[in-house]
Amino acid sequence: MKSLVSACLLGCPCRYDGGTRGDPELIAALGEEALAFCPEVEGGLPTPRPRAFFVGGDGAQVWEGKASVRDEEGRDLTAQFRRGAVRALAAALAEGCKEGLLKDGSPSCGLSRVDIQGHKVQGLGVTAALFLRAGWTLRGHD
Ligand code: SF4
Repeated sequence: MKSLVSACLLGCPCRYDGGTRGDPELIAALGEEALAFCPEVEGGLPTPRPRAFFVGGDGAQVWEGKASVRDEEGRDLTAQFRRGAVRALAAALAEGCKEGLLKDGSPSCGLSRVDIQGHKVQGLGVTAALFLRAGWTLRGHD
């Protein structure tokens, strides 16, 4: 079954600091059954980029219009994060993916924990929240 996978888990150096979280065992296990995608890059953000965090709630609340995403320099990145999430879902549907495997802790891909104004709390990233709203099955990976 083909999966959309956070690109950094597959070795792409697309994290905010230019790093990766490539997992050789995961890469070997997924083989051709993975669509690598980075919502932040595809949403129009550069790499490296300042660290981003939520204000007012998590990714689910971003889609309700109750929260925003900002970076360390105070810029509002909500539009870029929403755009990246929509593009991720469109790509997953176009490629016939049936599930998502996302990097936890990220303001885009986080599935169980995120940063809200400097506090690590339970919550969803913007992309994870959109996929769940669309009824997808997601798995998280540290
Ligand atoms: S966690 Fe998601 S948004 Fe962040 S670098 Fe990895 S793929 Fe991109």
